Amino acid sequence: MSDTLQKFMFDHSLVRGELVELSDAWQHVQLRRSYPPAVNAVLGEMMVAAALLSANLKFNGSIIMQIHGDGPVRLLVVECDAALQLRATAKLAEEASIADDATLPQLVNQHGHGRFAITLDPQDKLPGQQPYQGIVALDGDTVSTVIENYMMRSEQLDTRLWLAADAKVARGLLLQKLPGDGGTASGNEDADAWNRTVTLASTVSNEELLGTDIMTLLQRLYWEEQVRVFEPRHPSFHCSCSREKVGNMLKMLGRAEVDDALADLGKLEINCDFCGQHYGFDPVDCAQLFASDTLADAVQPPGSQQH
Ligand SMILES: [Zn+2]
Repeated sequence: MSDTLQKFMFDHSLVRGELVELSDAWQHVQLRRSYPPAVNAVLGEMMVAAALLSANLKFNGSIIMQIHGDGPVRLLVVECDAALQLRATAKLAEEASIADDATLPQLVNQHGHGRFAITLDPQDKLPGQQPYQGIVALDGDTVSTVIENYMMRSEQLDTRLWLAADAKVARGLLLQKLPGDGGTASGNEDADAWNRTVTLASTVSNEELLGTDIMTLLQRLYWEEQVRVFEPRHPSFHCSCSREKVGNMLKMLGRAEVDDALADLGKLEINCDFCGQHYGFDPVDCAQLFASDTLADAVQPPGSQQH
């Protein structure tokens, strides 16, 4: 079964929900990198959460979710674009030893310096427009509570998340209480729907979330509710790296830095952290990079026609 994201609404209420399951996309992230199980679980949960939040966004662009850690895990990054194309990576401290049952605070917040950031990067930026970034202290012991607290504080939105990931699958459920004053309310809403649907969702164990497909889960949880489902969407893995972007990064490092590295190494070998794609820049490639005005000219792949 392919990766699926399912939005739904409870009739006569101001509660909306989403369920997502990632199998192929999640496997793809783990293909080239094997992380300790505790890191894997956190990264999988973040991936699911990014898909859930992204599907709720009203703008055309990417959401980038990051946890900067002060423990054995230095950085966790997940990106999801408007088409629900995802990529994810984690950076561990050197010689990190990580217990299988390590908690989120043990992984990234040992000294209370962990940070959580959400960046919204519009696809068609106006000249000079910067992506929006919210960055806060890591508040919560699980990925779901960190995001719930963030959403409450920065968006004033009551959001609840249930997330789980193992090596095979990552699944998540989101419930959100819609503000009643935005013209969406008719006055006939079921006032208890939020408490009831959240209480029902809270009965789902981690094992059940990992072991049950999302449509069965929806049925099992809310068979007594009037649920309206929308057209399912299909998230997938996609990495947006390119030779041009790597060239751009080298240009930003500056000529002196690049020349130093070339003197040491003879050739620059760069591997994408997200997908493992390899990019090589030899001294001729680098000289071209700094000589040319346009980036496209500078990053001709090796062996292609030179101008
Ligand atoms: Zn890549």
